[in-house]
Amino acid sequence: MQRLSANVLVETGLRGANHGLVMTSDGIVMIDSPHKPSDALRLRAEIARRGGRLRYIINTEPHGDHWTGNAFFDVPVIAHEGVRARILETDLAEHLARVATFSPEEPALLEGYRPNAPVITFKDRMTLHVGNHTFEMIHMPGHTAFQAAVSIREEGVAFTSDNIFHKCHTWLQEANPDEWLVALESLRELKEEVFVPGHGPVCGKDYLDEQGSFIEEWKAYVLKAIERGMKKEEAIERLTGMTGRYPMDIGQDGMAPGVMKRNVANLYDYFTKSGMWAGRA
Ligand SMILES: [Zn+2]
Repeated sequence: MQRLSANVLVETGLRGANHGLVMTSDGIVMIDSPHKPSDALRLRAEIARRGGRLRYIINTEPHGDHWTGNAFFDVPVIAHEGVRARILETDLAEHLARVATFSPEEPALLEGYRPNAPVITFKDRMTLHVGNHTFEMIHMPGHTAFQAAVSIREEGVAFTSDNIFHKCHTWLQEANPDEWLVALESLRELKEEVFVPGHGPVCGKDYLDEQGSFIEEWKAYVLKAIERGMKKEEAIERLTGMTGRYPMDIGQDGMAPGVMKRNVANLYDYFTKSGMWAGRA
């Protein structure tokens, strides 16, 4: 793991979302957990080796790459209430079948798997005090409806979750692109200057413009196809122009064409108020 500040360690080099540890004067707080069970067990061993006591896990969003590893730690999890709901309604058989393919070690580690779903939830904001540290969870919908940023005041560090994909491809498979642009402005207003993105290396506020303009570009790309009268299936098939814009994150090789299709399908529904966006204001 990389030491980011006096008491923050982050991991940005594994398959799955970035995750971090904050070493407080009264134990450790984990922000998101490893996607691979084998990585979760290695992290558990590392915490034990450091003589640390884990107190809480905070999950920043509902996708499995942020919470699958919760199950390997016996501590309460904190997240947006929508994250709890999504974890509880996950088709576990399907989810675990996918995780089992990540390496030959995983299937045995998934035997008897039960998700460690959040038991402490928030809607808009929540503050957690552990030792001398203050964790501020702030709901910032965008990449998903239940996205949260976690700012750690004493360290000058904020975990932005997947509202930032730093120099790797942006997933918009269920995003509200307009709320996402608002979220980027909310991130800009934070006092913290060091950002741990959901994916990609650590970055700063200077990346917000690039992330925002890529979302604007995606919006215009799909809107133009709709305005030209393209049907959804045709748009999904033909709008492949964004595929090579950024590399895929670690462990996602070969997934780019599928992600493009899911991004197009979601934005098409968003602009035509159909699918999951039907009947929404
Ligand atoms: Zn995500």
